[in-house]
Amino acid sequence: MSEDLLHIGEEIKRCEKCRLCENTNNAVPGEGSPNADVMFIGEAPGKDEDLQGRPFVGAAGKFLNTLLDEAGFKREDVFITNVVKHRPPNNRDPQQDEVETCFPYLDAQINIIKPKLIVTLGRHAMNRFLPGLQISKVHGQAKRVKSVFSKKQVVFPLYHPASALYNPGLRGTLIADMKKIPILLKKINENDPS
Ligand code: URA
Repeated sequence: MSEDLLHIGEEIKRCEKCRLCENTNNAVPGEGSPNADVMFIGEAPGKDEDLQGRPFVGAAGKFLNTLLDEAGFKREDVFITNVVKHRPPNNRDPQQDEVETCFPYLDAQINIIKPKLIVTLGRHAMNRFLPGLQISKVHGQAKRVKSVFSKKQVVFPLYHPASALYNPGLRGTLIADMKKIPILLKKINENDPS
């Protein structure tokens, strides 16, 4: 199973399907456990991620590590990736065609890992699963959607960790939402012990 994940990672590293691969240092396929119960999906790699080829290793990543700690997760036990796998120039928002071109990689990762819970970080990742919803209204609320492998995939939208760096008022909200995850996982396991 992890070999399949590595294989997708290699494909992502070779990807030239959209303009985002131009002028980047590294693709950022994602990292973590192939057996993760929880998959965290952010927006796109930033400068530090592009330099290291690893997701969430800059300032937002430091806060994500704090959030994982608060909820009792080890980084290596979850899987962390992004909607797009190359850094957009100057950290601009990913464009719709870029997001769509990258979808099959994310879908393949989800299909291999089959997480019990997908946690979206920020509105770009949320839009992928819950189009049309407003993050300010639905953060911290579990939703069920059809995913690539499940008709009842549980998705839990959170604000992006970077949003708390610009708006410190969101820090407490993110911590409170994150702490709901172990409780939600327990409920999911009770309903679907597979
Ligand atoms: N922001 C993201 O959305 N993803 C990263 O990997 C880093 C910062």
